[in-house]
Amino acid sequence: MSEHVVIIGAGQGGLQVVASLRQDGFAGRITLIGDEPGLPYQRPPLSKGYMADGDASRLALKPQGFFETEGVDYRPETTAARIDLAAGRVVLAGGEALGFDRLVLATGARNIRPPLPGIELPGVHLLRGLADAAALRDAMAGARRAVVIGGGFIGLEFAAVAAAAGVEVTVIEAAPRLMARAVTPPTSARFLDFHRGAGVDVRLGALGAAILGDESASGVALADGHTIPADLVLVAVGVRPNVELAQDAGLAVADGITVDGHLRTSDPRVFAIGDCANFPLGGRHVRLESVQAAADHARHVARTIAGAEQPPYDALPWFWSDQGPLKLQIAGLSAGWDATHPLQDATGATDTVLVFREDRLIAVETVNQAGRHMAARRLLAQPGGITRDTLAAHDHDLRAALAAR
Ligand SMILES: Cc1cc2nc3c(=O)[nH]c(=O)nc-3n(C[C@H](O)[C@H](O)[C@H](O)COP(=O)(O)OP(=O)(O)OC[C@H]3O[C@@H](n4cnc5c(N)ncnc54)[C@H](O)[C@@H]3O)c2cc1C
Repeated sequence: MSEHVVIIGAGQGGLQVVASLRQDGFAGRITLIGDEPGLPYQRPPLSKGYMADGDASRLALKPQGFFETEGVDYRPETTAARIDLAAGRVVLAGGEALGFDRLVLATGARNIRPPLPGIELPGVHLLRGLADAAALRDAMAGARRAVVIGGGFIGLEFAAVAAAAGVEVTVIEAAPRLMARAVTPPTSARFLDFHRGAGVDVRLGALGAAILGDESASGVALADGHTIPADLVLVAVGVRPNVELAQDAGLAVADGITVDGHLRTSDPRVFAIGDCANFPLGGRHVRLESVQAAADHARHVARTIAGAEQPPYDALPWFWSDQGPLKLQIAGLSAGWDATHPLQDATGATDTVLVFREDRLIAVETVNQAGRHMAARRLLAQPGGITRDTLAAHDHDLRAALAAR
């Protein structure tokens, strides 16, 4: 009997496992289980291009014919309800049990729903899937005033699209700066300037206390007593990894499903990848919410399943966010930074931030500087990295520093 790989979660990571397994020559059975309808799709455009133009036709990661050509049993609208590790089976919500030789958990994450009074009112939206995005887009078309709770990537991407569509937008962010968990202060400041310049009312250090309204949302009350009127509220305050299936099966879990350097869970037949995985990188355990992590994890796991010997996973993290005309790109991880070196474009706006820890470059944030971003990825991926002094000797020119290696 040929080996059977079952993948739970048909998003960015799950679909990539399927594609990579076949590319790597795996000839066994593959079953891909996903609880959403339709074909697996990309999420990033939901708050960007799709929110602006409503064109869902470009979202699918692969056409239907891919599953037939590659001999993959794709089961949309199917929920995995339980994993029975002792029997090596996944039990579906309808009761059917699927035996597996290898299991990949690619269950992603779900939005945090803060316990705000009024959060259940019509007019309050969260954004994770295509159905959420379609509902939010419809609501945006009829909205005059929107409040976005959360000044992170998704909230700000939506704010930029909504403001450009003529909606009066207020963003409330509890932290003293935008995107504070992911970028350094100079980049936060650049985006604050952009959003304010585009007419968005950004309130920093502002805590939402309740969503107001009787039959539907009519505004947001802040903890300081102010109220902001709105006919649409987007709550975008982060996600929680979907770990329950793993946890109930007895697998180790800690802010995500705990995996080793080969993305194996505490049961060596079972892997976890993407948003739901907590994995070792650069000497600590991290959980990343990015297309890069989901896709690179998937490629690594597929190679292992296809029988390759390989070093532990150590792909360089990278990320992007499109907000209006600004493309933010991040290479590396800035967590634990202790110094930054911002660079300005001809107008004086910060377009690059070199981020250091203990005098070594750990991350580079760029705005509309695709070439520098690519140079940063290559520099950061080099063994030993690069020091602050070496970069200074090259006048902080990443491409020159790279050329000199
Ligand atoms: C609006 C938005 C914008 C984004 N923008 C960017 C961006 O610009 N750049 C970037 O790098 N990243 C971005 N991301 C993040 C990126 O999309 C995710 O990191 C990526 O999709 C993670 O892939 P994944 O496979 O881990 O999870 P997902 O793609 O979320 O897939 C997980 C799937 O598993 C399903 N599932 C969960 N439990 C079960 C179960 N028990 N049975 C069956 N199916 C189940 C889920 O419903 C989901 O379909 C964005 C995300 C969102 C929501």
